[in-house]
Amino acid sequence: TADDLRCSGCGVPIQTESPDRLGYAPAAALKKEPALCQRCFRIKHYNEISSVTPNQDDFLKILSGIGRTESLVVHIVDLFDFEGSLINGLHRFVGHNPVVLVVNKIDLLPKAINVNRILNWVQKQVKEHGLKTAEIVLCSAKKNIGFDRVVEAIAGHRGTKDVYVVGATNVGKSTLINRLIGDYSDLEAELTTSPYPGTTLDLVQIPLDDGRHIIDTPGIVYAHRLTELADKRDLQKLLPDKPIKPAVFQLNEKQTLFFGGYARFDFTQGARQSFTCYMSNALPIHRTKLERAEELYAEHKGEMLSPPAKEGLDAIPPLTKHAFRIPKGSSSEVLISGLGWIAINSDAGAQIVVHAPKGVKVAVRDSLI
Ligand code: GDP
Repeated sequence: TADDLRCSGCGVPIQTESPDRLGYAPAAALKKEPALCQRCFRIKHYNEISSVTPNQDDFLKILSGIGRTESLVVHIVDLFDFEGSLINGLHRFVGHNPVVLVVNKIDLLPKAINVNRILNWVQKQVKEHGLKTAEIVLCSAKKNIGFDRVVEAIAGHRGTKDVYVVGATNVGKSTLINRLIGDYSDLEAELTTSPYPGTTLDLVQIPLDDGRHIIDTPGIVYAHRLTELADKRDLQKLLPDKPIKPAVFQLNEKQTLFFGGYARFDFTQGARQSFTCYMSNALPIHRTKLERAEELYAEHKGEMLSPPAKEGLDAIPPLTKHAFRIPKGSSSEVLISGLGWIAINSDAGAQIVVHAPKGVKVAVRDSLI
């Protein structure tokens, strides 16, 4: 019977009555050996960790819980949306526990960019945000770049402690964790993970060979990232999956760029100069005159200016303005969180206005590239 059966993945007692409760397996599935609960079955066969997205309060509770443990915290951020995906005030939550910062998606930057330059830039940003890190590692979970360094850093800093993995949604946390599980056999020397994670309190726990765990926490939802506000059907277009080919525009003052219909960039004042857009190449960019911009948007949003498509328009907050003055002789980037950034190497200075859906973080920063 199912009564004394335990899941060979996570060890919970198997039950066949309620799909919503822990340990559920369809009765028919139990004819096969070894017995797996549905959750472990999914993780094993679809190589996919599905975690429910809790609300912000629950997430903060989980984070604060980490502060009461002795553990290593692995914070994954997305290089494509660094400021948007950094957890603000992480130390308030995780207390004195050491933090390894894993900067993911480095495969998206154009090939010619020097890794040390990125690392220096990240170090500077981290300092400005008041985050103290035991180590910073750059990687691409998807393209398997730098993954061995991630494993080394985790193994090196955890001692004999548990490891909590934290991050915003869409930073590649699942991809990285799946790689940790999937590649476990090659990593034996560093970190032995089990291919059968279990779950406790909605946290996915991957057993390590010393009885400790790597604990995956739910992705935190930041409403200031365009990727959270955007129509889910547009995510594929917004999240680049190949190295970004920057799009360079020579603009005169009073010219405008539309990024689909999701955002708009006005060069309001300054000498003719170039603006380099680092965004998903699946997102069409339209150039127009500033004086034509309002009308163009009103007439063509959802069509020529898409994504979002017409059906999705109502769900997107209205565009609001952010004005910036780029100083003379500076090399800056204007980040639109979740969309990408526009690089401005300005000899003569520039006045710009960015229009982005209300709530989306827009900021000027020192240039990464
Ligand atoms: P999670 O929400 O943090 O668990 O993120 P996922 O692992 O589901 O990844 C979110 C999106 O980012 C997916 O479209 C992934 O394919 C993509 N992704 C994850 N890691 C990388 C990476 O290293 N490089 C690139 N280019 N995309 C990645």
